[in-house]
Amino acid sequence: MDTQKIVRDLETMHPNAECELVFSSPFELLVAVILSAQCTDKRVNVVTKELFKTANTPEAIVAMDTVTLENAIKSCGFYHDKARNVKGAAQAILDRFGGVTPSSREELETLPGVGRKTANVVYAVAFGGDAFAVDTHVFRLSHRLGLSNGKDPMAVEKDLCAAFPQKSWAHVHHLLIHHGRYVCRAKNPSCAECLLKDRCEFYAENNRSIS
Ligand code: SF4
Repeated sequence: MDTQKIVRDLETMHPNAECELVFSSPFELLVAVILSAQCTDKRVNVVTKELFKTANTPEAIVAMDTVTLENAIKSCGFYHDKARNVKGAAQAILDRFGGVTPSSREELETLPGVGRKTANVVYAVAFGGDAFAVDTHVFRLSHRLGLSNGKDPMAVEKDLCAAFPQKSWAHVHHLLIHHGRYVCRAKNPSCAECLLKDRCEFYAENNRSIS
């Protein structure tokens, strides 16, 4: 498979594919990514715009009353869990990293509520690391395009890392996310406007019913 052609076509369709979360520090990005689980980046940005006015450091988050934090992030959904994770991560950063958000993926993964996907996003976007975060969009597109048959995100990540040059991992991650959000949606993908039709296994198998 010509993965470079896939990248060029994705770049043509999504020339501004970058992280859509608004942040001004690694810690702000970490909080935003935790809040983004099962929630749109747009909603997270609305919430963090207010939250970060008063609490955008580990110290301020830890000092914040839990109910106040829950109310501030309520519209992101799963706010009990997310408040616990945000507070837990902030406390761990204070306790174990001197108040500075760690810059390695391995250290990020030790924070409460931070799984591999979150660690990959923060490592790549905040620190410029080479990482391929696999979220629901990346997972779906990887299967539709025949880039991976992996049964779980870790297996897909491994296949994607092998398929694309290391320096392009974060870039291709954003391209796939944008394509999944705006064109290749889970339901009713816009195949008619997609430049990847001729290399898409999903389209080949389903074009009669979805085109
Ligand atoms: S052809 Fe359709 S299913 Fe395939 S990548 Fe494009 S939008 Fe997605």
